[in-house]
Amino acid sequence: MSEPVPTASTLPAQPPADPAVVSDETPSTDARRIGPTFRTSHPLASGPVVQPAPTVDGFVETFLGELNYGQGVLLSQSTVNDQYLALARTVRRYLMADWLETGARRRQAQQKTVAYLSAEYLLGRQLGNNLLATNLQDVADAAMSRCGIDIASLRAQEVEPGLGNGGLGRLAACFVDSLATMDVPCIGYGIRYEYGIFRQTFEGDRQVEVPDSWLSLGSPWEFPHPERQVLVHFGGRTEEVTDENGRVVCRWVPDWNVVGMPYHYMVPGHRNGVVNTLRLWSAKATQAFDLQIFNSGDYAEAVRAQTFAENISKVLYPEDSTPQGKELRLQQQYFFVACSLHDFIDNTLPHDFDLRRLPERLVVQLNDTHPVIAIPELMRILVDRKGFDWDEAWDITKRCFAYTCHTLLPEALEVWSVELLGRLLPRHLEIIYRINEEFLEEVREAFPGDEMLVRRMSVIAEHPERSVRMAYLATVAGSKVNGVAELHSQLLRDKVLPDFSRMWPDKFTNVTNGITPRRFVLLANRRLSDLVTDTIGDGWVTDLDRLRELEPYADDASFRAAFREVKQGNKERLAALLRVRDGLEIPQDSMLDVMVKRLHEYKRQTLKLLHIVSLYDDVVSGRVAAEDLTPRTVVFGAKAAPGYHLAKEIIFLVNAVADTVNADPRVAGRLSVAFPANYNVTLAEKLIPAADLSEQISLAGKEASGTGNMKFALNGALTIGTDDGANVEIRRLVGDDHFFLFGMTEPEVERLRPGYTPSMYYEEDARLRSTIDLLASGHFTGGDRQAVAPVIDNLLHQDAFMALADFRSYLDAQERVEAAYADPDAWSRSAILNVARSGFFSSDRSMRDYLDRIWHA
Ligand SMILES: *Cc1c(COP(=O)(O)O)cnc(C)c1O
Repeated sequence: MSEPVPTASTLPAQPPADPAVVSDETPSTDARRIGPTFRTSHPLASGPVVQPAPTVDGFVETFLGELNYGQGVLLSQSTVNDQYLALARTVRRYLMADWLETGARRRQAQQKTVAYLSAEYLLGRQLGNNLLATNLQDVADAAMSRCGIDIASLRAQEVEPGLGNGGLGRLAACFVDSLATMDVPCIGYGIRYEYGIFRQTFEGDRQVEVPDSWLSLGSPWEFPHPERQVLVHFGGRTEEVTDENGRVVCRWVPDWNVVGMPYHYMVPGHRNGVVNTLRLWSAKATQAFDLQIFNSGDYAEAVRAQTFAENISKVLYPEDSTPQGKELRLQQQYFFVACSLHDFIDNTLPHDFDLRRLPERLVVQLNDTHPVIAIPELMRILVDRKGFDWDEAWDITKRCFAYTCHTLLPEALEVWSVELLGRLLPRHLEIIYRINEEFLEEVREAFPGDEMLVRRMSVIAEHPERSVRMAYLATVAGSKVNGVAELHSQLLRDKVLPDFSRMWPDKFTNVTNGITPRRFVLLANRRLSDLVTDTIGDGWVTDLDRLRELEPYADDASFRAAFREVKQGNKERLAALLRVRDGLEIPQDSMLDVMVKRLHEYKRQTLKLLHIVSLYDDVVSGRVAAEDLTPRTVVFGAKAAPGYHLAKEIIFLVNAVADTVNADPRVAGRLSVAFPANYNVTLAEKLIPAADLSEQISLAGKEASGTGNMKFALNGALTIGTDDGANVEIRRLVGDDHFFLFGMTEPEVERLRPGYTPSMYYEEDARLRSTIDLLASGHFTGGDRQAVAPVIDNLLHQDAFMALADFRSYLDAQERVEAAYADPDAWSRSAILNVARSGFFSSDRSMRDYLDRIWHA
């Protein structure tokens, strides 16, 4: 490590928080009594034990020590899992001093802290990232080989924590990475699901979901902190009581409780000595449950009650952007939000902190509506527990929160029925009603006589059932509301929350999403990173705009050749992986055309499928000679929510088409389709660096931003895409000549919408008709026409996302792709310019924008 290791004398002598001072909501478990209650003058009491600077010898010694004394095995007897755990614990030692030092520094400095509240963190594997952050890769490689161990097999042993569905959860992971790299005080708060996103397998071409038991082989990156556990209430009723000052206050008399147990994860900055914390909550039964078990005649029933409490953090809901309104999900949301606010206010701030100054010390960023229940929770803490009057509490609360909206789909806007919310969180419902009453008064003052407007803007919807609109609550309370790409933020103002943006134009802002270049370039694409660093130095890793310095090299033939070699190497690496991982053979010397993202109708995997079938149809019908087809390998990756029937039918159809196309000698070597199961961050890191073509083909106005699109551009793939989400900004930055645009614009979509008749396109476009007919004939499903019907019928009679309307334009754009690909020099020039001009999409830049426009931290 280049950073000096902190010693006792360089560290502030801050005593640990006194564990005896606990709030009314903290359970008095035995764990509470284990706190550091002693005082000593020993110098090591206030500074970490110094970890010697890393050498290969030292690393080997620590590793073997972990193996012997941590795992309890000899090297000669150890399994790969033993070795992986010992290696992880070795790496974690090198981060620990920085973690302790960062924590101490944060406590001392009393700066504003970002509490990033997110129900999802799609972290990806930790070992590689942490080796990179500590710059220990080479030392670890050498140390493992000295032990006769292949480090690659240890890396492969790690099960990624899949605590998210897709883009939203991955964004949260990129953001905390950037904040650590920028040394911004941040605590990421979330849920430690025992089962993350399901593992996808295919049986008979159909998706089958397998539980993701990511913790089963041990989890070396987490640290449970029972002394920081928090009690969370549910259910019951409210009552009014008079307090000691004669004030009438409201009291919540809950029905049941659970304990939130925090697990801490290290979030290292990139080689800067900073390690921030991600704090994920796990639900446990309270001692009361244990007592109940002890005293109960019905032992089995009591144990069931315990299981009930622990169910809260059992599993991640696998719906991506279509919440189902399930009671357990609301329990999850309140659970982690209550734990997190309590943790910050009662266990992180100094005990004598004056909460009137809370907005100077805390900004809570709400990642979508999932944590919005934090707003009434903070009001409850301030008014009911801390004795603030309503107006002052509301003023504080409004200044603490900001809200990020992630969607444009109406069905994705979360609402909770009043019945359910009142049953689970009666006090919060009262608070929401009062917030709404006062807000609607404000609306009436601002726009007198417009009762329709009042009803439209109400946080409480009356139809189809009385329910709370969480996005509205977040907008009313938040100091800022942001969309996640320019187009999205504009549509948010104009279409999703127009009344609110009229009332508070300054509340609305944009922060275009980004991705961390550490994971998605440096770690995922070592070949490209080395080439870039050899050419312009390594400053780009933390200042991605410097990729601009590559621009002149786009015209340098030897650089282009080196760039092509990088791509080819990545393709070979991918081919080797898919061979062992999935038993798939992907041909070399072909264009790698990749569409990886959650399966959703609006993302239009069916449009890609129609393209494949049309290429295949061209050859088998004799219209095009196979030799005239640009050799192309299409790779899909996509999970469907288990209850999303049409999405699962689409997966089936992609697999069926892949089977047929890959087995047909008429297109052999010219067209192939690979659909490796279980697309996740680990696979993304291998797939994206190998891609030539990035498919970003959502219907305009539906994809809020996309981040996959950014990962591809930064790894030198060219995009074929619609004018949607951040594609708009990618195209503007890389230039029209280096981006394949197609499809309707958002206004064109809206104009077409009213009378949209998909069958008309089928009737009028012979190529589309032939494509759909071939699909519908059962050619890809062993003659079974029934098996194709759900997808075909939907396309012809509904096609809510207008794949047929954009089909012709998409095919034309694909022809432009083929023409461009035929000139390798021009193609790699464009690819290099994509890399050079995409520095804007670093999540470091997103974080700077949040800091400037929203957090002011
Ligand atoms: C980046 C990423 C996503 C988001 O992809 P989009 O194309 O933006 O939808 C989803 N899943 C994984 C595993 C990712 O890494």
